[in-house]
Amino acid sequence: MNYEGLTGRVITPCDPEYALARQEWNKAIDTFPRAIVYCRNAQDVANAICWSRKHCIPLRVRSGAHHYEGYSSGTGTLVIDTSLMNHIKVDTCQNTVTVEAGTRLKDLYQTLSACGYAFAGGTCPTVGISGLVLGGGIGLSTRYLGLTADNLIEATMIDANGNQLTVNQNCNRDLFWALRGAGGGNFGVVVSYQFKIEAVKKITLIQLRWENKPARLAFLEVWQEWLKGLDRRISGFGGIYKKSAYLNSFFYGTPAEAKEILAPFLSIPGLTLRTIECVDFIDAVNIIGARYERSAFQSPGGFVFRDFSREELEKFIQIMDQAPSDTTSRLAVYSLGGAVRDIPETGTAFFYRSANYIMAVSSEWQNKSAAPAHQAWVAEGFKYLKTLTCGSYVNFPYNRLKDYQEAYFGEYVEILQYIKRKYDPENIFCFPQSIKPAESVRNDLKSFPFEAE
Ligand SMILES: Cc1cc2nc3c(=O)[nH]c(=O)nc-3n(C[C@H](O)[C@H](O)[C@H](O)COP(=O)(O)OP(=O)(O)OC[C@H]3O[C@@H](n4cnc5c(N)ncnc54)[C@H](O)[C@@H]3O)c2cc1C
Repeated sequence: MNYEGLTGRVITPCDPEYALARQEWNKAIDTFPRAIVYCRNAQDVANAICWSRKHCIPLRVRSGAHHYEGYSSGTGTLVIDTSLMNHIKVDTCQNTVTVEAGTRLKDLYQTLSACGYAFAGGTCPTVGISGLVLGGGIGLSTRYLGLTADNLIEATMIDANGNQLTVNQNCNRDLFWALRGAGGGNFGVVVSYQFKIEAVKKITLIQLRWENKPARLAFLEVWQEWLKGLDRRISGFGGIYKKSAYLNSFFYGTPAEAKEILAPFLSIPGLTLRTIECVDFIDAVNIIGARYERSAFQSPGGFVFRDFSREELEKFIQIMDQAPSDTTSRLAVYSLGGAVRDIPETGTAFFYRSANYIMAVSSEWQNKSAAPAHQAWVAEGFKYLKTLTCGSYVNFPYNRLKDYQEAYFGEYVEILQYIKRKYDPENIFCFPQSIKPAESVRNDLKSFPFEAE
C-alpha cells in the first residue's frame, strides 16, 4: 500500500506498535485497521481524509477510543486518531477553555482545577473529550452545569473535502446544532473545542454503598422519588448489583445540606459505606475515576420519562438475580434534569433532553469464554428495559439496535440526515451506526429547530 500523502505518525500492521495502536478501551473489540494515522495538527487530519478518498479506503475517527462498540476503529479502515492533539488553553479572563480533540478528561480536569475551575464532564478519566461532547456528555456535575455539549461555545472541524470549518452559533449554525448530541464520527473530524467553564473549588463528594439484597428494591424506589424536585446542585450515578446497591454523587454545596438532601437514601438499612465529605473538585473526580479498568463489556441504556410501578421494579430485581456476575453485572441509573432542562427542548441534537434519567443494563467480563453468557443477559435485560424507556443514549451505543437512528436521535433523524447530506454528501464519515445522508438536498434548513431557539 502506498501511504504517500499521509502525514503525522503512521502505524501499519508491519510496525511493532500496531498491536497496541489497534486496541480500543473495550477489550471485546478486535479490529484490524489497514493503518492508524496519529495526527499532530489539522493539516494532518485534512491529508488523512484526502488520502482515504484518493485510495477509496474507508475511514474512522478516533480520539479517546472508548466507543462501546468500537466504531472509532474498523478492520480494513484508515483510523484518523487525534490523541496526540491534546493541548489545553485556559482563559481566566473569559472563563473559557480551548482543548484539542484528543484531550482526555483526566488532563482536562487536572488543568482546569489547577486554575480553580470545574468541568461538566464524565466520570472515566481516560474518556476522550471528543466522543463525550459530540454525543451530549453526562456526569456528576450535569444537573448543576448541564451536559458537556451545553457548555460548548465553538468547534473547529475538518470536513469531507479537507476544509476547515468554524462551527458556532453564528457560523455553520445547523452543524453546531447537530454536533451537540449527534456529532460523533458523522459529519467530519473535529480538531478543537472551546467551552465555557465555571469557577469552583470545593464540592461535597458522596459515596454510598449497601451490601444487602433488600437494599436494591429500596434503592430503585427512593431513586425515582428523589429525583422529583431535586436540588439541581446534586447529580448522581448509582445502581444495583446482584447483592448490593450504590450511589455516587457530587453536590455543589456543603456536607450538612447534602445530608438533608440524601435523607431518603440514608434511611435505607444496611449502609456499609457512607462518605459525605467536602473535598477539592479534583479530588472528587480522581476518587470516582480510580475505579475504572479495562474490561470487555456491553452496556446499552434507555431514557426514563415516567415512574416505574412496584411490579416493574421487582422485575428489574428478578433480572439482576439472573445476572452472570455478582460484581460486574449491574443495572445503572444516571440522573438528568436540573440544568439540562435550561436549554430549550430543541436547542441541540440531544433529543431526549427532558428525560428524568438514563437506565442501562451493563455487564463486564475478562475471559472471552464468558462473553456469550454476559451478552445474552444484557440482551434479555435490555429487551425488558426497552419496553419501559424511550430511545437510547448515543454514547451508550448497542450493536443490536435495529432502528439505531431513531433510537439515538428520535424525531431529529430527518433533519440530521439533511445536515449530513449538506456536509458529507458522499458519506465519507460512515460506520455501522452512522447517520445516513438524505437522498435529496433541502434549501429550507432554516425552518428547522436550530433556528427556533
Ligand atoms: C469506562 C467508560 C466510562 C464512561 N463514562 C461516561 C460518562 O460518565 N458520561 C458519558 O456521557 N459517557 C461516558 N462514557 C461513554 C463515552 O462518552 C463514549 O464512549 C464516548 O463516545 C467516548 O469518546 P472517546 O473520544 O473516548 O471515544 P472514541 O471511540 O475515540 O470516539 C467515540 C465516537 O466519537 C467519534 N469521534 C472521536 N473523535 C472524534 C473527532 N475528533 N471528531 C468527530 N468525531 C469523533 C468516533 O468516530 C466515535 O463515533 C463512558 C465510556 C466508557 C468506556
